[in-house]
Amino acid sequence: MILATAATALALASPLAGKTVAIDPGHNGANYLHTAQIDRLVNAGGFMKACDTTGTETDDGYTEAAYNLDVALRLAKILRADGARVVLTRTTNTGWGPCIDERAAIGNRAHADAAISIHADGGPATGRGFHVIYRRSRALALAIRDAFAVGTGEPYADYVGHDGLDLRTDLGGLNLSTVPKVFIETGNMRNSLDARRLESSAYRQREAAALARGLLDFLR
Ligand SMILES: [Zn+2]
Repeated sequence: MILATAATALALASPLAGKTVAIDPGHNGANYLHTAQIDRLVNAGGFMKACDTTGTETDDGYTEAAYNLDVALRLAKILRADGARVVLTRTTNTGWGPCIDERAAIGNRAHADAAISIHADGGPATGRGFHVIYRRSRALALAIRDAFAVGTGEPYADYVGHDGLDLRTDLGGLNLSTVPKVFIETGNMRNSLDARRLESSAYRQREAAALARGLLDFLR
């Protein structure tokens, strides 16, 4: 056949049409001002855990909360351009929360086909690299890991996990998710080399493109 059908043309232009992705930018910019609220214990999937934490920051004072949201908004823009419906757990960096249980619930209520929680780590200054944290969603974890490594050139974390992966059962955001979900710790904000990359808007755009690629690989 020479002529592409309308459906084929649509699939090429909108490869994620009909798919829903939940994006969770970890923490929030004003969490540190609301310690009573974010220290409150919530159900984390069979045990209780704090509603949220403040997150980390680079030595220059670039906060993880601001970073996470920036990458999340870049990713959302790419996915929407590809035809996906995107739900975000927060869209500003000026408030506190939502709590980890609500972050999972947002993806569940949206019946997301995939969900990703975006973080950067506060590891030892001597360690660098990224890792994907998963519990049940190993296929999504592998798709995100492979696409992120290729798209950014960032190495696998050398201080945590194995081969860029870390299986964890202590994260409420994963335990409470009824949809495929992973966390990514995109780099170590306490490492000077990683921090320089994470502070670059051009690099954050590369990260978003790589994450979009991984989601596309998983969803189609
Ligand atoms: Zn974090």
